[in-house]
Amino acid sequence: MSTCVFCKTKQSKYCGRSFHKFPVKDVLRLQQWLKEMKRKDWKPNRNSTLCSAHFTNDCFDRTGFLITLKKNSVPTIFDNPKSECSSCHRLREYGRGYSFFKFPLDEPDIMKQWIANINIGPWSPSSDSFLCSDHFELSCFQKKSKNYITLRKGSIPTLFAPL
Ligand SMILES: [Zn+2]
Ligand SMILES: [Zn+2]
Repeated sequence: MSTCVFCKTKQSKYCGRSFHKFPVKDVLRLQQWLKEMKRKDWKPNRNSTLCSAHFTNDCFDRTGFLITLKKNSVPTIFDNPKSECSSCHRLREYGRGYSFFKFPLDEPDIMKQWIANINIGPWSPSSDSFLCSDHFELSCFQKKSKNYITLRKGSIPTLFAPL
């Protein structure tokens, strides 16, 4: 039974995905995989698998009974399916009417205020950390298009449920 190391989908008859082992013996290719996954410091073992959701269609050889990966395929689709809000742990899902914002990693002063307001103790966000739009006053948002909003520069999240 395989589980995708990235999105945690479990292999089952009904999941509609195929599962593919990491090219652990092909160091160069393995590096490409990990680079795409943005997990340079992580090492797969012989049983680690990625599911087919992370490969484009042209990576698959469907001519045989089993779907296999073509040689030299590299997974490229990593939509951060498990991104969640660092405060309320809501998962990022598309079309749900809220937005997710990355932490202002390049603005340490502003980031300090974010972290102080989130109030979850000693913790430092990474480039994969998000906060959902529920924690910002409406005045923080800048509408870019119908479905796309960004944060105004210097916005600080202030709306948090009391602990
Ligand atoms: Zn997956
Ligand atoms: Zn949230």
